[in-house]
Amino acid sequence: MRCLVIADIHSNLAALEAVLDDVERRGGVEEIWCLGDVVGYGPDPNECIRLLRQYKHICVAGNHDWGAIGRIDISDFNPDAASACRWTSRELGPGETQYLEGLPLTICREDFTLVHGSPREPIWEYLLSTSSARINFAYFKTNFCLVGHSHIPLMFESTGEGQCLLSGLPLNTPLNLEGRRLIINPGGVGQPRDGDPRASYAIYDSDEGAIYHYRIPYDIAVTQQRMAKRGLPLSLAERLSFGW
Ligand code: ZN
Repeated sequence: MRCLVIADIHSNLAALEAVLDDVERRGGVEEIWCLGDVVGYGPDPNECIRLLRQYKHICVAGNHDWGAIGRIDISDFNPDAASACRWTSRELGPGETQYLEGLPLTICREDFTLVHGSPREPIWEYLLSTSSARINFAYFKTNFCLVGHSHIPLMFESTGEGQCLLSGLPLNTPLNLEGRRLIINPGGVGQPRDGDPRASYAIYDSDEGAIYHYRIPYDIAVTQQRMAKRGLPLSLAERLSFGW
């Protein structure tokens, strides 16, 4: 089986469409595994949810998904993120709100645990350092954990004895999973933050026992124009050009 692994779409329809087209060119997938933050920041929350729902998929909740349905206090969000979150709440249709309300925090599928932030704290915790990742290896039972939230493609490998290593996710080459214990972030679809503005995603191939990481350019100007039209904060549109 082949699965598309995506995170942090953030209402960026142009980026999501580019990823789905690229996946088709690569032979398609049977299922989509989405790691949360389908909405927030971007201009097309309803359209992104509807497009995702056209596919066989599983999805966990992210902080922006919960922010948009009023399930968490967004006073911790920075002012631009909070303003986009309030706009998203107003914009969401009833069916789309209901969809977000039904998203679980954690899903276990095959040998993978799916969460948005971290297995210890699925909504809020960023996994960016070995000190936080090391602790989190004790919070899931499968060999692999897939996370989003930081919008940075990376992986942590448990080396036993409570230690772990941090490295980038290899691009276009197979990451062999056999015999390993890993936390993997496929990067962000709709708002990459590693200095590369191209949408980031991964494909898991269960027959090969490998994960592939890919980047694909999308029409950033289209998303920026839609954001301007909807009165979303300018800084949120500008950052897309820089992958930050
Ligand atoms: Zn996010």
